[in-house]
Amino acid sequence: QKGDVAIAVEGLSASYGASEVLHGIELSVAKGELVAVLGANGAGKSTLMRALSGLHRPVAGKILFQGDDIQELAADRIARRGLVLVPEGRQVFPELSVVQNIRLGAYGRHTAGLDAQVERMLDRFPRLRERQDQRAGLLSGGEQQMLAIARGLVARPEVLLLDEPSLGLAPSLIQELYTILAELRDGGATILLVDQMAEMALAIADRAYVLSSGAIVAGGTPEEIRDSRLLEDAYLGDA
Ligand code: ATP
Repeated sequence: QKGDVAIAVEGLSASYGASEVLHGIELSVAKGELVAVLGANGAGKSTLMRALSGLHRPVAGKILFQGDDIQELAADRIARRGLVLVPEGRQVFPELSVVQNIRLGAYGRHTAGLDAQVERMLDRFPRLRERQDQRAGLLSGGEQQMLAIARGLVARPEVLLLDEPSLGLAPSLIQELYTILAELRDGGATILLVDQMAEMALAIADRAYVLSSGAIVAGGTPEEIRDSRLLEDAYLGDA
């Protein structure tokens, strides 16, 4: 059901060795929502995404996915349940073709009807259709980012996690990418994204949180986030 809780994070803390980098994070994403987590370099955005997808074990707190506690599950089990991460830096397979990369996203999930699903991705990302048989390593950074998202979507995830999708992209491509993300949400997708591109993300998000030095310092609608000075403070504070 649209509006049901997709992800609920309660009191989540994460560390590297003795140093705690996430402190008691509370956030939620409802089904059908596009939620942005904004924060400067080193705020803990990637660590949060890695914790949600089972790649980094939190030291405290709870992660509920569709009501189930998932923080003990291995990353592949979490992905198979439909909580799918598009990692920072894209991580496409450079020697494989565009279509082969997309097909890999379905591994372990929804392999029936895969050809049709790949076609839908190529419809969604025309730049990828033009280059469908090229090696992924030859794509531009922006095209690789589209490919990484298509690979994440082909499995028809319940929730898509996007780690800094705009990283390293030219402004025009960021605009194109964000337009696609808004279309995906309008089509019913549930998306949690972290990005430094605050204005871009606020323009399409239903709700947003500000992450500063490992803590959530604000949460609300884009208007509320813009009106509070917390966003600015978070960026300046971390600079
Ligand atoms: P960026 O935008 O630069 O990717 P971020 O908001 O994603 O930053 P994280 O990558 O989550 O931030 O890092 C949060 C903190 O944890 C930083 O202080 C970083 O130096 C530290 N950190 C990240 N990865 C490790 C690691 N593997 N070992 C030790 N410290 C780490």
